Amino acid sequence: MARPSIIWFRRDLRLNDLPALLSATEDTDEVVALFVLDDALLRPSGTRRRAFLMGCLRTLDRDLAGRLLVVHGDPVTVVPAVAREFDASAVHISSDHGPYGTRRDRAVSEALGDVPLVATGSPYAVTPGRVTKSDGTPYKVFSAFRRAWNDHGWHTPAATDSGTADWVDPGNFSSRVPIPDEQNESPLPTGELAATTRWRKFLDGALARYATDRDRPALDGTSGLSPYLKFGCIHPRTLLHDLRNRSGEDAVTFRSELAWRDFYADVLYHRPETARTNYNRDFDALAYDSGPDADALFAAWCEGRTGFPIVDAGMRQLLAEGAMHNRVRMIVASFLTKDLHLPWWRGARHFMRHLVDGDLASNQHNWQWTAGSGTDAAPYFRVFNPTRQGEKFDPTGEYVRRWVPELRSVDGVRVHSLPDGPPDGYPEPVVDHAHERRVALGRYERIRSPR
Ligand code: FAD
Repeated sequence: MARPSIIWFRRDLRLNDLPALLSATEDTDEVVALFVLDDALLRPSGTRRRAFLMGCLRTLDRDLAGRLLVVHGDPVTVVPAVAREFDASAVHISSDHGPYGTRRDRAVSEALGDVPLVATGSPYAVTPGRVTKSDGTPYKVFSAFRRAWNDHGWHTPAATDSGTADWVDPGNFSSRVPIPDEQNESPLPTGELAATTRWRKFLDGALARYATDRDRPALDGTSGLSPYLKFGCIHPRTLLHDLRNRSGEDAVTFRSELAWRDFYADVLYHRPETARTNYNRDFDALAYDSGPDADALFAAWCEGRTGFPIVDAGMRQLLAEGAMHNRVRMIVASFLTKDLHLPWWRGARHFMRHLVDGDLASNQHNWQWTAGSGTDAAPYFRVFNPTRQGEKFDPTGEYVRRWVPELRSVDGVRVHSLPDGPPDGYPEPVVDHAHERRVALGRYERIRSPR
């Protein structure tokens, strides 16, 4: 009798367009579907991201007619234990290129001994490390990366679904655990069908106005796919395939956003230490604020009570939904680094705890982009004025009033500048933007021309 193979799901919680599943069924139809609850990944995730993940696992389990084997523990010990128990011929995965995933997979591969760990596909349209300059070095500038990424292209979606394998019933496997019932329900519908439904709605609707509406936080103008892409409920290759005959500005802009996702994964793959350190080491010399006053400002930022309406709206949306619009992410990140003079990694850590789509590569490198220390970064001297940004991108004030109840009595665009002063219960601005901008530029000048 042929030995079964195992497919170990991680950031690929779907059954369609799953190359690793094709590999798993090359020599046998019998496949064990495995997911490992790994504390090293679960601990730093906030309740919303965990709830979303558990919802996705429940949906996957349903699609597998209850045959998803969920175990809890360190993958280095539990994956080989499952392989031994089922006498598996191989363990199949979609490759992981993050710093933790790379280390973990190397250790699991060693621990598996004679049973091969076979990586097929990755969570990206183009696997990190694949697109390089002609001399083999990585791209440091996004526009050049995107050109090479487009030229490289991607595979067509893999023809897989729930019927591709005979799923082994894990029955009462000794270390099987139930999918945790997280107290916080997921803020979003979960799983592959929800992802596909969201994508089709966007493709037939908001995509037609994406190039203009994507910067307006009050509108449902973006795809909302980032949590699904994060956990692989849908693959970017599927999206790019569906877009293959669309050449208008909206589709081009959307494709470019997917290229940013691949770019940052590529940057982190080549420079894994940049999850924690400045990509541009010149910024190591930048002076940051610390101490009790800085901590109090950080707390005001986290809780959405800075007295800057667009900043507070974004930070409250993050706490309430585990989400924040991209434009507002840029505004609040600029505010933390350039108005409050706090290091980007403090903000990035808060984001990673609360975002449902929290993704190390996209998060740390977007933070570094805003802070000026990243690859291809926004020039440090371009300091966002939060009030002007609010007026420009939330011109009706609707987004602010949705998230800051104290400001609901203020009509229209005036909600950003509050010309009559803050209404009862809403704080005065915690800093003077014009002054802090000068302070930020002065500190930047000192690292550009150190004495
Ligand atoms: P859409 O506009 O519909 O874009 C489609 C997809 O393209 C997104 O789902 C995402 O996968 C990708 N994408 C879009 N913009 C970017 C970008 N700037 N960088 C990388 N990929 C992008 N995105 C995350 O997925 N996880 C994060 O942890 C994260 N942290 C961020 C932190 C900061 C400070 C900033 C400024 C941005 C961050 N982003 C992050 C990028 C971006 O804000 C989100 O991907 C986007 O808001 C998700 O909404 P959407 O799916 O509707 O995007």
